[in-house]
Amino acid sequence: MNAITRLLTVSVISLLLSACSTVPVTGRSHLNLIPGSSMMSMSAQQYGTFLKENKLSQNQQQVAMVKRVGARIQGAVERYFASTGLQGYLKNYNWEFNLVEDKQVNAWCMPGGKVVVYTGILPVARDDAGLAVVMGHEIAHAIAEHGNERMSQGLIAQLGGVALSTALSDKPEVTQQLWMSVYGVGSQYGALLPYGRMQESEADHLGLVFMTMAGYDPNVAVSFWERMAIQKGGQAPPEFLSTHPSDATRIASIKRLIPSVVKQYGK
Ligand SMILES: [Zn+2]
Repeated sequence: MNAITRLLTVSVISLLLSACSTVPVTGRSHLNLIPGSSMMSMSAQQYGTFLKENKLSQNQQQVAMVKRVGARIQGAVERYFASTGLQGYLKNYNWEFNLVEDKQVNAWCMPGGKVVVYTGILPVARDDAGLAVVMGHEIAHAIAEHGNERMSQGLIAQLGGVALSTALSDKPEVTQQLWMSVYGVGSQYGALLPYGRMQESEADHLGLVFMTMAGYDPNVAVSFWERMAIQKGGQAPPEFLSTHPSDATRIASIKRLIPSVVKQYGK
């Protein structure tokens, strides 16, 4: 190994180490190579474009429901971070909750708390508590920075170790392209590719915590995912069509988590 290679290796390793962060609630350590500021600015831009290109619901009752449940989950997330002394975690959050007129059984949250719920998921959600399962789960993906993690994995796969620091500082188009691979897929799929099994389980866990802290009954998550399992015969988009974890495994894990979540985070 010559001096330059050694220097590059050392700087890549230190970059990787400094980019390692911890997921709230679960404490899992994960790799976030994309600067938070880049994630937030891409999110704000893409969210704005999405809202311009899609039809916002005019159903005032349903719009109010989405904003009401969103605000309660937001409050819970803020209390969670206040209780752990990590309020700074949310400093670039600029929450928005919008309901889009679309038959897809879908919802998502981009970094910074930019939430979209599709009208197609409301019959499955049924009521505020069911919607809290959906929004808690989606907000959990954003809080756990799963998008950044996937982009970071993509970056490593695409460029290999030594090109990392160069790509991040000198090639904003690489970051943009990775963003599109995670958040910007074709309109037939909504905005997100399916997450991995670990990330789905983690979002279920954090979502349960947030909905419980928001004052909703976490047991509703079990009935929601049971309804979703029946729904999946149709044309659900990847986030909710995802076959991993399987419905039975997911529901069993949620059932297992509920007693400890209620004990630790219930009122
Ligand atoms: Zn998910």
